[in-house]
Amino acid sequence: MCGIVGYTGSRKAAPLLLDSLKRLEYRGYDSAGVAIVDKKLRIHKDKGEIDNLRESMPNIPGVYGIAHTRWATHGQPTKDNAHPFADCKGEIAIIHNGIIENYLELKESLIKKGHKFRSETDTETFVHLLEENYTGDLESTFRKVLPMMKGSFAFAAVHSKEKGKIVVARKESPLVLGIGEGENFAASDISALLKETDRVIALHDNEMAVLTPESVEITTFEGKEVTRRPERIKWTVEDAERGGYEHFMLKEIFEQPQAVHNTLLGKVADFDVNRFGRDAFPSIKIVACGTSYHAALAGKYILEDIAKVPTEAQLASEYRYSTAAFGRPLVLLISQSGETTDTLGAAREARRRGRRSLAITNYVGSSITREADDVIYTRAGLEIGVAASKTFLTQLVSLYLLSIQLGLARRTLSFDESRKMKEELRLMPRAVQGVLDEHKKIQKIAKKYHKARDMFFLGRNVNYPIALEGALKMKEISYIHAEGYPAGELKHGPLALVGEKTPIVAVAIKDHTYEKMLGNIKEVSARSSPVIAIASEGDRDIEKYVDDVLYVPDVPAIFTPIPVTVVLQLLAYYAAKERGCSIDKPRHLAKSVTVE
Ligand code: GLU
Repeated sequence: MCGIVGYTGSRKAAPLLLDSLKRLEYRGYDSAGVAIVDKKLRIHKDKGEIDNLRESMPNIPGVYGIAHTRWATHGQPTKDNAHPFADCKGEIAIIHNGIIENYLELKESLIKKGHKFRSETDTETFVHLLEENYTGDLESTFRKVLPMMKGSFAFAAVHSKEKGKIVVARKESPLVLGIGEGENFAASDISALLKETDRVIALHDNEMAVLTPESVEITTFEGKEVTRRPERIKWTVEDAERGGYEHFMLKEIFEQPQAVHNTLLGKVADFDVNRFGRDAFPSIKIVACGTSYHAALAGKYILEDIAKVPTEAQLASEYRYSTAAFGRPLVLLISQSGETTDTLGAAREARRRGRRSLAITNYVGSSITREADDVIYTRAGLEIGVAASKTFLTQLVSLYLLSIQLGLARRTLSFDESRKMKEELRLMPRAVQGVLDEHKKIQKIAKKYHKARDMFFLGRNVNYPIALEGALKMKEISYIHAEGYPAGELKHGPLALVGEKTPIVAVAIKDHTYEKMLGNIKEVSARSSPVIAIASEGDRDIEKYVDDVLYVPDVPAIFTPIPVTVVLQLLAYYAAKERGCSIDKPRHLAKSVTVE
């Protein structure tokens, strides 16, 4: 997690660094800081969001420096624990994303050697190690010290006596380099750099780079030269701005018709499905975390229904340490950022087990694209709100496309059937728009129930994972305690918790589970819980059984997760808004979870 930025050139570094850092704020926002070399090294840091730092920022001239926004893993989010950290002499400054696993032993031996620590972080050990081993040149000192570090990191460092130079290194934490004219940049991800350059080089694991205004030299930790050409990035600054919406999340929810459209235009064919034909693998294992895991769970229903291939979903943090490995499934990895540490770990574990892997991600050039054998891009565009919305929906659409391709390859779907499904999928942007057009109604319902302390979200079949996702959205941004359940499970325990103060959101679309869902709705309303149903357009019957109904456009049952998801996103959004929550940056959370 956390955001890193570095700049070296001829412009004043401070405003540029703060501006770029602001675009990374979704990665962490409990404290922030900058280190700029003027005549000497100057560090300024503060608790809280980047705007705090901006307000208290003194005027620091200087044309190169580094900046950090933190998502604490070791040590409270205090000013002292904010990055950057300096060595004892105040010449070297560093910032870090990741976790140094062996920091305690390193710290102990450094203290014995007389180093004074000023924070409780794991990160600070690195700067004292650089000081202890300094060769007169930061680059070779990095090479000496990096092998001593266990864990994951993206580091950036400056030395007050090495003018205009920034040294960066990465292992299992993201880092990209931005190439300019007479100036160069480093950052945790592309969004920080969009305003400055569209030429970007992704640094790979176990690589470091030395940046000056005129040059970017990439090498492996061992010193082997790496030649890699910059890629042109198509995302624009507007993609990274709110464009009139009150929150990024709302903007991103409203961008979904376009995002889905783009996913449908994308080439799932980039992934050569025929290689995975009829007998290539007997089953699929989908591995993911958080919202992507809910896409994975929905993926089980989708792949089994359309492609008739046995599929299982597992959390990445569980998969990577599970001891049982049966069969030879295709491992499908889903990660919005492509940098999720647990999912990357799962990808490596899949390789160790000799599995073929396929990644679904939104980030071109992200780490997962190198770990997996094949990639499908969701093409949702940049997502800044910490709570995923359009990236989830486009993950679902990618899973539909993949299922159709696989169904064809495995001959469980005829050509005509596949064509019909693709035609139906092409209508999805319109179905999503249909829900968005009803946003005022959803807002009204959210207003009615926003004071709830607890809520339940019920679904069945392919809409069960969607209920989980609806509950997660509600928790994440409104802080209402919300639980998602398969409706049939309620009577096996959770029913003990329902009552008049516990609204129930029930996905009751017209599919083969409809009657059962009506039964479940009656169970909860008999126990005084208010029920909000999400129902198929035209279903007037349902109004008899529930307190409120939100209708979704009538689409084939297997595709209903698409419009239903949008209703649940808006419900969570408007509830959070009523409650005055920090919607784009929910407390304790960050996007792109790059720690275990
Ligand atoms: N482990 C470091 C800390 O707690 C860095 C965390 C991060 O990636 O923001 O400060």
